[in-house]
Amino acid sequence: MKGFEHLKQEIQEWKEKGVYRPLTELESDQGSKVVIDGREVIQLSSNNYLGLTTHPRLKKAALAAIEKYGAGTGSVRTIAGTFSMHERFEEKLAKFKHTEAALVFQSGFTSNVGVIASILGKEDVVISDALNHASIIDGIRLTKAQRRIYNHCDMDDLEKALKETEGARTRLVVTDGVFSMDGDVAPLPDIVELCEKYGALVMVDDAHASGVMGKNGRGTVDHFDLHGRVHIQVGTLSKAIGVLGGYVAGPKVLRDYLIHRARPFLFSTSHPPAVTAACDEAIQVLLEEPELIDRLWENTRFFKEGLHNLGFNTGKSETPITPVLVGEGALAMKFSDELLQEGVYAQGIVFPTVPKGEARVRTIVTAAHSREELEQALEAFGRAGQKLGII
Ligand code: PMP
Repeated sequence: MKGFEHLKQEIQEWKEKGVYRPLTELESDQGSKVVIDGREVIQLSSNNYLGLTTHPRLKKAALAAIEKYGAGTGSVRTIAGTFSMHERFEEKLAKFKHTEAALVFQSGFTSNVGVIASILGKEDVVISDALNHASIIDGIRLTKAQRRIYNHCDMDDLEKALKETEGARTRLVVTDGVFSMDGDVAPLPDIVELCEKYGALVMVDDAHASGVMGKNGRGTVDHFDLHGRVHIQVGTLSKAIGVLGGYVAGPKVLRDYLIHRARPFLFSTSHPPAVTAACDEAIQVLLEEPELIDRLWENTRFFKEGLHNLGFNTGKSETPITPVLVGEGALAMKFSDELLQEGVYAQGIVFPTVPKGEARVRTIVTAAHSREELEQALEAFGRAGQKLGII
């Protein structure tokens, strides 16, 4: 079909640079090992931190919900698509997060876009960390508010932005709790202190801390004991929780406002019963099986130490997200291909997901990995890294 020549040309350029990547098909469920091209390989690229995607309790809850309530909801929440289970789950989430209220969105992505784009007007300012997730950036693109970007985790730069924007109606400082490409943790106590000093609101996106950090996986606010001092918490149900969705936890007035003004909430159909029931069960699992989180962190320590001992550069990671930094995009892709040959699936991440020259293979261990699997993976990293001159 004619009319797409400019796209074809760009794709050709990516191929020449070695950064074009077809989608990788999984032929199995999402476990510690997955089947790719008929071969079983160790999975180190999924956000399934606790192994909940295949947890028997979640599967059972989803099946029961389908039997009772059907496969879909047939409407947006604000018309005919709010089932009792949606409301009960949000109450459970609010209790879990120690907030007044919570509101579920279709994804973490739409949660960020929905909240940032709706609650600010042109009298307001949004102040955002330079390495925040794309969904925060897109939310900012959609607001009428003025915008300021501060250097990554740089508190002097944040303070400068707060000083320079005094007089605005509302200032909203937004940060990822755990940064998705580097695995470092935001200095949330310092951010909260600055925001209290300058009278700004704080919003944290805990996509990679939900189910991972804090008591029972309550996130960074709990980890740093900042309950009641962070105004808006966004979480995802798509990663450690093992299903799909996102949520905003905060005061009742915020929930009420979002129900009336957040466009992804207003104009997109609510979660199918299976999704909500499985998410609800996942929160119960976090409360009743906290040993899964302990195992995740034990595996994280073991794997990170193994990579360091091999001589890899893992940047500033402090969490299960461990990047193996290599620099050039083409090298990251070659490294990832070589690892796959060695029986390990670890995706190469290149520009525009990370800045040019900072390409990497990103690894995420989970609670589901056995020690033996992690040892095998480390051996594969050693062989592939030496072959390509990375170590
Ligand atoms: N925020 C961050 C920091 C993320 O890493 C992601 C997922 N890539 C999201 C939000 C979006 O979450 P979801 O996959 O639930 O849309």
